[in-house]
Amino acid sequence: MKHVIALDVGGTGMKAALVGADGTLLHQARRATGRERGPDAVVADILDFAAELRAHGVRQYGEAASAAGVAVPGIVDEAEGVAVYAANLGWRDVPLRALLTERLGGVPVALGHDVRAGGLAEGRIGAGRGADRFLFVPLGTGIAGAIGIDGRVEAGAHGFAGEIGHIVVRPQGAPCPCGQRGCLERFASAAAVSEAWAAACGDPDADAADCAKAVESGDVRARQVWQDAVDALADGLVTALTLLDPRALIIGGGLAEAGETLFTPLREAVRRRVTFQKLPSLVPAALGDTAGCLGAGLLAWDLIDTTDPSYPSEVTT
Ligand SMILES: [Zn+2]
Repeated sequence: MKHVIALDVGGTGMKAALVGADGTLLHQARRATGRERGPDAVVADILDFAAELRAHGVRQYGEAASAAGVAVPGIVDEAEGVAVYAANLGWRDVPLRALLTERLGGVPVALGHDVRAGGLAEGRIGAGRGADRFLFVPLGTGIAGAIGIDGRVEAGAHGFAGEIGHIVVRPQGAPCPCGQRGCLERFASAAAVSEAWAAACGDPDADAADCAKAVESGDVRARQVWQDAVDALADGLVTALTLLDPRALIIGGGLAEAGETLFTPLREAVRRRVTFQKLPSLVPAALGDTAGCLGAGLLAWDLIDTTDPSYPSEVTT
């Protein structure tokens, strides 16, 4: 059976899968990224992991994967196939596509950006299925974004398109590691809400999920922390929808796991801010933490021209 290899490399863990032509996850595996051993060891592990998946495909499906897709964090040159920089992995200018192509016996390899790959999957087979224009915004340790246009995700001229987390929503607000002050991710990421709720309730271990539970049980302090985050997020999203006019806003990441505790006030806060703009649908992401891996698989499938006679569409038995 024809399949591709998909790898999603994160700061702490790597997720991998063999993905079928219909986007089905045929086989999944995870392991630690082990970034404390340095960037060279991480790259070696990525290559080993991909080679193991290839071998698994040969054993299980009687043929090697037809292509591979890898999603990585940081700055990615998708056209050149180079992982340019990732603060949390410590690498610079790793020619990952060429290294993987060599290790996997010459099959086509796509290198993508983790959030854009996740957005691609949410847009094609997840919460945005059928939406020709969407914005995917995962609310995690930070806040990122992926701009979906007609079945692809816009990278921008320098690979920075979609960085909604660094839109200033509170001028002169809290400093951000990016060098600016008052960036959206300082107020509405899961990490920012965790920090604000820990300070408000006095428990240093309390996190955003605890805050959501306290909101649901009617805690006044929690409601204030939560509403501050919702207002900041709505300010950022309205800036984005004014520029992009998306059909759907897909919100994911840890904070979105609060469900309607987030989405009900957020829809209301966005609606209140909109004047002439058309309101997009505001929906939770559907693919969870497999989005990046599925997106890497889609990037791989996109490389295979199914009309090419050298890629038979049926497996000989
Ligand atoms: Zn910033």
